[in-house]
Amino acid sequence: MSPLASGAREIRDDVVAGRVSAVDVCRAALDRIAEVNPSLNAFNLVDADRALARAATIDRQRAAGAPLGLLAGVPIALKDNLCVQGMRTTASSRILETFEPPYSATAVSRLEQAGAVIVGKTNCDEFAMGSSNENSAYGPVRNPWATDRTPGGSSGGSAAAVAAGCVPLALGSDTGGSIRQPAAFCGVTGLKPTYGRVSRYGLLAFASSLDQIGPITRRVSDTALALSVLAGADPMDSTSAREDVPDFSAALTGTAAGVRVGVPRAFVSGGVDATVRDAFDAALEVLRRAGASLVDIDLPHAKYAIPVYYLVCTAEASSNLARYDGVKYGHRSAAANDLTTLYSRSRDEGFGPEVKRRIMLGTYVLSAGYYDAFYLKAQQVRTLLRQDYTRAFESVDIVAMPTTPTPPFKLGEKTDDPLQMYLADIFTVSVNLVGLPGISVPCGFADQRRPGGIDRLPIGLQLIGRMFDETTLLRVADAYERVTDWSRQTPTL
Ligand code: GLN
Repeated sequence: MSPLASGAREIRDDVVAGRVSAVDVCRAALDRIAEVNPSLNAFNLVDADRALARAATIDRQRAAGAPLGLLAGVPIALKDNLCVQGMRTTASSRILETFEPPYSATAVSRLEQAGAVIVGKTNCDEFAMGSSNENSAYGPVRNPWATDRTPGGSSGGSAAAVAAGCVPLALGSDTGGSIRQPAAFCGVTGLKPTYGRVSRYGLLAFASSLDQIGPITRRVSDTALALSVLAGADPMDSTSAREDVPDFSAALTGTAAGVRVGVPRAFVSGGVDATVRDAFDAALEVLRRAGASLVDIDLPHAKYAIPVYYLVCTAEASSNLARYDGVKYGHRSAAANDLTTLYSRSRDEGFGPEVKRRIMLGTYVLSAGYYDAFYLKAQQVRTLLRQDYTRAFESVDIVAMPTTPTPPFKLGEKTDDPLQMYLADIFTVSVNLVGLPGISVPCGFADQRRPGGIDRLPIGLQLIGRMFDETTLLRVADAYERVTDWSRQTPTL
């Protein structure tokens, strides 16, 4: 059996006990990537030499009796917007085609210090802007469950790599759903930690007040393990929180008894696909039988989350992306003979259409005369949204809703209509606007007939917790996973 058939924790235990070598695990991951990546396009870069050398180091450390970390020998993949020193990091943009960061992201260093072995960088929407992975300069990622469908975005490559069994753990970033939504579409688990829980140092910024790095895995227990390694204050990120980091793995007691789960019925009633609604209702029933109590709640401002999110994130993106000017990093136009033309040509040649759209929209909403009407108003509604959740968490411990309104849609289905694409984020964006932790776990499949067979399209259940209460969130998600078998299903590729 492939060493990759098990999760990160089992791989680590096997490596530590000497039942398998880190090099063999690494080879298995590289072989699997070589096998499936031609049909998935999940990786922008695979660095086999670096990975095998790191794995050999772990094996030598073990042989020498040195203490091994929590992720010793675990092969991992990183979304291509996370800096790794000396490893090409592109954010799936032409503008960073040749960029090799001079330092590694804190999240990356922490994983490597724990013994994880980076096998490569995963494809994503350009600068993490998108919900389908179709905005990548390197072409779309395909969903391992149905290759004519989107894996979700923007961390689509990371989710597809985990779902296809290339790695048991991948990192993504989530600004408005980019970990949870692709996890839902690919039938795996994805956590957006509380804002500030994980350092953003070395994450190529999209919208700094919303961005968080988080793990994508097949098991909630591996998510807990990864979060224990990733979490904690970092002097390099002033927004990282000096909050205690509990033992997240120890929190997984297997029960949801006594947990009050809030269900925003009015919010989830409209525009939700029947297959998703049925899976969601069934999941609530499972939680109830697992000891949770269901409480109806109201999130009256949640319906404004999309416009608020797309005003705030574009405003911040227009500021963050001003640094790509053809001078400091990456692509520089060869067709310029003065400085202003150098800036504009480099940006025009380097950025794709969605990134340009957002920079223009963001510049507009921040400009004098429009700032008050758009950006300021959005921030005010953001406060109302926060108050909705604060009120809800007075009577519940967790809020549950679907991760997405539909199962994974077809590649090309929404590319001509950005607004339709944005509306698909309705259930994920409010979590980022408020800063809360949210997780998506597999909760069913929508079976869709196609010529010659049936596609099984994954559906995700989203659970949202109080600020810094990942413990309850992971405990309930794990309890749910233990009594269902959705997370154990794998796509046939
Ligand atoms: N789909 C959302 C967007 O396009 C979220 C992206 C993200 O979380 N990075 O902005």
